[in-house]
Amino acid sequence: MDVWAVDRPGPIDEGPLQRVRRTVPAPGPGEVLIRVEVCGICRTDLHLCEGDLEPRRPGVVPGHQVVGAVVDRGTGADRFAIGDRAGIAWLRRTCGSCEFCRSGSENLCPRSAYTGWDADGGFAEYAVVPQDYAYALPADRPAVELAPFLCAGIIGYRSLLRANLPPGGRLGIYGFGSSAHLTAQLAIAQGAELFVMTRGAQNKELARELGAAFAGDTTDRPPVPLDSAIVFAPAGDVVPHALEALKPGGTVAVAGIHLSDVPVLNYERHLFHERDLRSVTSNTRRDGEELFRLVSRLPVRAHTTEVPFDAVDRALSDVAHGRAVGSLVAVRPD
Ligand SMILES: [Zn+2]
Ligand SMILES: [Zn+2]
Repeated sequence: MDVWAVDRPGPIDEGPLQRVRRTVPAPGPGEVLIRVEVCGICRTDLHLCEGDLEPRRPGVVPGHQVVGAVVDRGTGADRFAIGDRAGIAWLRRTCGSCEFCRSGSENLCPRSAYTGWDADGGFAEYAVVPQDYAYALPADRPAVELAPFLCAGIIGYRSLLRANLPPGGRLGIYGFGSSAHLTAQLAIAQGAELFVMTRGAQNKELARELGAAFAGDTTDRPPVPLDSAIVFAPAGDVVPHALEALKPGGTVAVAGIHLSDVPVLNYERHLFHERDLRSVTSNTRRDGEELFRLVSRLPVRAHTTEVPFDAVDRALSDVAHGRAVGSLVAVRPD
């Protein structure tokens, strides 16, 4: 089969992602084989290509927002029928027995594994996934619209939980890419007032279109103090701006898996008055199930740009250079 693989990570414009041929994988016990229809493109894929995340498997195939059909099942894999639509997400496996797994925090499992990092992902014709970590997806919505929810949506949802936003509260969002534009809609649909700080005129325009009360630059102070903020931009220098924009008792959640260094913080200006700075680490399967339930009843829609499978590398370059608006989704040829 035809895949995109990373052999030696490096700057995306120097071609770390290469088109190669591979054997179609066979599903192991408890796994299903999925024929990829579409695969969403995520900033984490860029981090994997560029080496911001330490490589764990040479020649890995990135891509962790897969929508496709189950075409084969390994021993004991009977959760899906052949032909069912299923989704593959970032969280791929946890141990199930550590203190974190047992207490509902499987996202912190030290033995967790991730699609496109520890195992091959969806920039391919076929991909395997443990059935217990796959999502059953509705067959009546376009695959392209569903893919961005499998990572951008789930991580955004968890970030919103971690940001501790009170009902009807004021939420600031720093950076307005794929995850942010879905999170913004979830927050607004649940009564939040939204303030977006981002670079790029088109991102600001999308923020206003989706109902933001304010859309400024990442260094702009929103016009009113915020209850909560989520930093989606992978830039640590945004964090002090977000902390300064908070009301006393407010919370900043950092959504990304990778962040450049946070500058030195000043206790009085950035943290005193019980402002909290929190990270977001992966997600639990429960986060994903809850998100898909919300998406089925709230007016939340991914703004997508379809990318031909041939152009995944160029699309990642667009993400790197801030040229992407909304969610990019790679589409396999039929
Ligand atoms: Zn565990
Ligand atoms: Zn992702």
